[in-house]
Amino acid sequence: RLQKLKSVKYPGLENYEVLEQMGEGAFSIVYKARHLPSNQHVAIKILRKFQMDQAQKQAVLKEVTIMRQLNHPNIVKFVEFIDSEPYYYIVQELAVGGEIFTAIVKYTYFSEDLTRHVITQVAHAIRYLHEEVGIVHRDIKPENLLYLPIESKPSINPVAKLRKSDDPSSKQDEGEFVPGVGGGGIGIVKIADFGLSKQIWEHNTKTPCGTVGYTAPEIVRDERYSKEVDMWAIGCVLYTLLCGFPPFYDERIETLTEKVAKGEYTFLTPWWDEISADAKHCVSKLLTVDPAQRYTIDDFLNDPWMNKTAVAQPAPA
Ligand code: ADP
Ligand code: MG
Repeated sequence: RLQKLKSVKYPGLENYEVLEQMGEGAFSIVYKARHLPSNQHVAIKILRKFQMDQAQKQAVLKEVTIMRQLNHPNIVKFVEFIDSEPYYYIVQELAVGGEIFTAIVKYTYFSEDLTRHVITQVAHAIRYLHEEVGIVHRDIKPENLLYLPIESKPSINPVAKLRKSDDPSSKQDEGEFVPGVGGGGIGIVKIADFGLSKQIWEHNTKTPCGTVGYTAPEIVRDERYSKEVDMWAIGCVLYTLLCGFPPFYDERIETLTEKVAKGEYTFLTPWWDEISADAKHCVSKLLTVDPAQRYTIDDFLNDPWMNKTAVAQPAPA
């Protein structure tokens, strides 16, 4: 009976039992739900169409178009899109753990090893987006980074099957977690929220979107530098994971904007005192004001701090 009431509330979702809320954004509420025919859990982003203008509706359709193209173990998988009279529903793979943001709040900050474990997965997803699909995310932040707790397996499309055996992250599904790397219960990390993302070239063809020869220099230049915004954001996330607060902050938006524009941040004492010089070097290469000098995704993946191996824990006797 209760289920009948909920499907009245959410027309078009008759196949799902809507469960607890997972999160919310400006226009959306995300619920955990159970797909009744398969008994699998999913996340449903519900967007109210009322008071959305044409441009906002277009943006939702674009978000769906982008999500449909993506297939990566560190990106939340698209399941289906339902367009009803009052709502749009974007059904996705459920990231049971919720936001990395909440985990930072809970643990105050992450160890260097746990930080590396998290940011490496984000980096693999970004490399896929930048180099294989031609998409810039443009909204990388701890609220949009979700995770599965160590023990939990993905609820749909078991990702282990999609991975090459030489991919180190493939071990995580099988529960063969490298001791000393995990902690904090964070297993697989997944990027969510493609609401602000932009396609810079067409998937598979690698030809730029729009008519090639007629594109103005400022557009070409913009696209040339658009991937760099994700790298800056990764730098902000990396900084935040390591110390528990963001690199740029001010009560006044004007002052904040000025600090960001100048790249004015510090490794604040005492919080940064125990953090390795390699980690600080890596952060500084991402938080570089000149986008041409900033780390690209490949630079980042090749960074010395990123390639340090976690201190091995003694094997149980
Ligand atoms: P918005 O564009 O409104 O920010 P998001 O797609 O970021 O919407 O979703 C809002 C919040 O809902 C996220 O920050 C997260 O807490 C939660 N959420 C979104 N997608 C999922 C998912 N697939 N699994 C679990 N929680 C999710
Ligand atoms: Mg969001």
